[in-house]
Amino acid sequence: MTTDARSLNADLHSHSRYSDGRLTPAELVQRAHANGVELFALTDHDEVAGLDEAVAEAARVGLPFVPGVEVSVTWGAQTVHVVGLSIDYRNPELVAGLAETRGGRDRRAQAMSDSLALAGIPGAYEGALRHVGNPALVSRTHFARYLVERGVCRDVASVFRNYLVEGKPGYVPHSWARLENAITWIRGAGGIAVLAHPGRYPFGAATRRTLLEEFRAAGGRGIEVLSASHDEAESREFARHAVELGMLASRGSDFHAPAESRIDLGALPNLPAGVLPVWHDWPEAQRGFALRS
Ligand code: AMP
Ligand code: MN
Ligand code: MN
Ligand code: MN
Repeated sequence: MTTDARSLNADLHSHSRYSDGRLTPAELVQRAHANGVELFALTDHDEVAGLDEAVAEAARVGLPFVPGVEVSVTWGAQTVHVVGLSIDYRNPELVAGLAETRGGRDRRAQAMSDSLALAGIPGAYEGALRHVGNPALVSRTHFARYLVERGVCRDVASVFRNYLVEGKPGYVPHSWARLENAITWIRGAGGIAVLAHPGRYPFGAATRRTLLEEFRAAGGRGIEVLSASHDEAESREFARHAVELGMLASRGSDFHAPAESRIDLGALPNLPAGVLPVWHDWPEAQRGFALRS
């Protein structure tokens, strides 16, 4: 690639109504296009049902697109997220693995609602469901929107400080996919596994490194260096890990909704110098650069 691949406005992490985003896949693609995104991925949580619509709309508006997913994983006692990029989203093992990962969400949601009721907030299950776009995917985000709607909290971010997290009302521990399985499903579907927003996890430096090393040993290829969850120091830290571990660097806003997400689609800075972008050898990236001429 003649142009520095880092200069491509790639946004490889986003959510639609098929998980906990507020926009339809088509609306999301249109917004990405309007914002100047040159290479886009939809990565709904544990779900690929929005990808047909996204692919069709991306083709219609001429936006280079790769299908993706964000798999919920339990690593030790912690939840971590693995983004799969450029996946064949009809791959049977991937589809089955995601169905299994989603499976416990409804029961968990009912238990979350019971826990909130004990804290004096009744009706949260029904309230959250009113925000759900896909009944197979009830998420904490939908509960957060309900708590904001009821005036319990000012915004979604403050919900996640006072509710739904460990030690607070509405928190219910849950077992997601195993790290090795999530990576195997993604690779089996021809995709690249990227560790999502590593700065978000409440680990010390040594545990962060252990996670990255285990992720790589299990077949993970990339690190999400730039994310709305990262400050500048974290972006630099994860760029350094990517270089040291010989891993690819990704960039994604993790956009969920206008006025709710801190960073809009396509609004992140370029990847730091020295890293190899995950899209460096993708034909879709070449098409993204071609949009400029
Ligand atoms: P779940 O998969 O149901 O546990 O929900 C996880 C989702 O909650 C994430 O994908 C985010 O969209 C949202 N979330 C978690 N922590 C925060 C936070 N601190 N601020 C805003 N949203 C959050
Ligand atoms: Mn989310
Ligand atoms: Mn995530
Ligand atoms: Mn996400």
